Amino acid sequence: MYDVLTTSFRLSCPQHGETSVRLSRFRRREELPGPHHPAVYRIVFECGCGDEHPGLVAQDDLDLAPLGLEDDRTFLNLMTSRTDSLGLELTELAAQRIKAGEWPWSFFCYPEERPRPVFPSAFMLLAPGDGSLGLAVRCPACQRTSVNLVSHEHVDLPFHNDREIGVVEHVFYDDVHATIEEFRAELWSARFDARRLSLE
Ligand SMILES: [Zn+2]
Ligand SMILES: [Zn+2]
Repeated sequence: MYDVLTTSFRLSCPQHGETSVRLSRFRRREELPGPHHPAVYRIVFECGCGDEHPGLVAQDDLDLAPLGLEDDRTFLNLMTSRTDSLGLELTELAAQRIKAGEWPWSFFCYPEERPRPVFPSAFMLLAPGDGSLGLAVRCPACQRTSVNLVSHEHVDLPFHNDREIGVVEHVFYDDVHATIEEFRAELWSARFDARRLSLE
């Protein structure tokens, strides 16, 4: 489902079959009704063919696979001439960075006025424009939605946190559909305030 070497998801396109999709090409994510363990999300992504398609992504694929946790491939380690697990190697690297205080993804929570660590399953809406990405995030701590303006790498590459991001100075409400409309209408006319994204 997720390929750590190309940092992209394998999703299906009705025209081209399987296609490679980076997280920044996701547009919306919704929870499926009913209990699912682990959680499964319905997402809509912008495909290379020009259309938007729906897809299903498990929470583990969204949040953990980009860190290598789901990867069971092996590689020849040239330092030791042994075959090592790619996933294990990446997982150890990720664990070291998290211990050192780095978090794979972060955002600025506007209602709380502070940066927070986050996982991609909290990304509700992504809207491209002007070379960057409008990103609506449901805060895991206060459950309110903030809209940040970030680079594509900020979402696509774990541990690539933009040093400075834009923040829409507006409190968005929980109703997802209203948020979508509000988000689209206001995003590119909104005044962005630059905030530092340092988690220390
Ligand atoms: Zn397509
Ligand atoms: Zn918050």
